[in-house]
Amino acid sequence: MSSLVKPKVSIVRCDGYEGTRLRSALRESLDLIGGLGAFVKRSSRVLIKPNLLSARIPDEAVDTHPGFVREVAALVKEAGGLPAIGDSPGSFFTIKSIDEVYEKSGIKRVADEIGAELVRFDRIVHIDGYPIAEVFDKYDLVINLPKLKTHSLAMLTGAIKNTFGFVPGLSKVQCHKKAPHINEFSKILADIFSITKPGLSIMDGIIGMDGDGPAAGRAREFGLILASPDAASLDAVFSHIAGLPYSRNIVLKEVTERNLGCGRLGDIEVVGENLDSVRIRDFRLPKTELIYRLPSWLSGPIARLIGFSPVINEVSCKKCNICKEACPVGALTIDEHISKIDKAKCIKCFCCHEVCPHDAINIKRNLFAKMIWQ
Ligand code: SF4
Ligand code: SF4
Repeated sequence: MSSLVKPKVSIVRCDGYEGTRLRSALRESLDLIGGLGAFVKRSSRVLIKPNLLSARIPDEAVDTHPGFVREVAALVKEAGGLPAIGDSPGSFFTIKSIDEVYEKSGIKRVADEIGAELVRFDRIVHIDGYPIAEVFDKYDLVINLPKLKTHSLAMLTGAIKNTFGFVPGLSKVQCHKKAPHINEFSKILADIFSITKPGLSIMDGIIGMDGDGPAAGRAREFGLILASPDAASLDAVFSHIAGLPYSRNIVLKEVTERNLGCGRLGDIEVVGENLDSVRIRDFRLPKTELIYRLPSWLSGPIARLIGFSPVINEVSCKKCNICKEACPVGALTIDEHISKIDKAKCIKCFCCHEVCPHDAINIKRNLFAKMIWQ
C-alpha cells in the first residue's frame, strides 16, 4: 500500500472482562487511533459484528467474549450511536440455531442489558457471485470484533477472516467446497473482505486461543486489545505477535497484494504498547502449519504426503450431526452405531473440526508428518 499516512494499530493491555477496567482499556485503545468519535457520528446506526463461531460458553474462548461486546456497545452509545449486534455462526442456519448461539455465548444477555438490537443474518443478497447477508451495508458503520485465535486452515483467524461471517450459515460450506486449499480459499476470503470491509476492527485478545483453533485449541490469557481502522494492518500486528511471518500468512498476503489493506509491518504505525514487548514467544500455531513452512514449489506434492486428517473421537461424539451438515462433500457418516469420515471423499477443509461443539474431532498427523515434525 503506497500511502504517506501510515495506518495505525493500537495495542493496549487489559487483564480481564470486568466492565469498568475493560471500558477504560477500550477507550484508551480507541483514543490512540483518533477516538471513537472519528468513526461513530451522532444517531448513526452501528453494526457490531463479533466472531460467534458456535454455541459455546464465554470461558471456552471460541467466541468474542460477551463482556467485550457489551463494553464496545456501551462506548458506541456514549458516542451517540445506535448499536446493533449480529453474526452468522459456522454451522447450518436456522432461527433456532442462531438463537442458541446468541443465548449460550452470552450475547443475548448483553444486548438486552445495553438495549442493542440483536440482528439475524437471515436475508441474502448476491454480490459478485457470493451470497452475502443483506445487513452488511444497512448500517452507517460496521465494527468488527474478531477473537485472537488460530485456525487450522488459515493459520490465524483475525479481522479479515471475521468478515467471512457475512456469508450466512451453510453457504460458507460451498465456499470451502470450491476452494479446499488455503491458496484458493484466501482468494475467496479476500473477495468477501473487499465486499464487506468494516470501518473499524477491535480484537478481543484478552483471553484467546492457540493450538488447533478455531474451536479445539487451548484457551489462554493474552491480556491484549488491538484496534485499527484497517483490518489488514491489525492482522499484520496480530501475526507478528503470534510469530507467523507475513510470507506464511497467506490470507494477509492476498489482501495486501490486492491493495485491500496494509499487511506489511513496516508500513504500519503501531501505537500504545511496544510491539516486541507483547510478542507471545510460546504461541502455538496449528499442527497444519507445517505444510506452510515448505517452499511453495514443494508444498503441492509434499503436502499430499504429509497427511493431516480429521478423526472423530467416538467417546466424545454426541451424534449432533453438526459436522455432517457442515461437510461440503458429504464425507461423514453419523448414526447410532458409528461416527466416521470417508477418507477418500474428505478434502481436508477442516470445517467439521471447526464446527464440532464438543471438540470431538481432532486433527491427526500421519507417520510421515510426525517424522518431519520431529
Ligand atoms: S463429531 Fe462433533 S459435530 Fe459431529 S456428530 Fe459428533 S459431536 Fe456432533
Ligand atoms: S470430513 Fe471434515 S475435513 Fe473432510 S471434507 Fe468433510 S468437513 Fe472437510
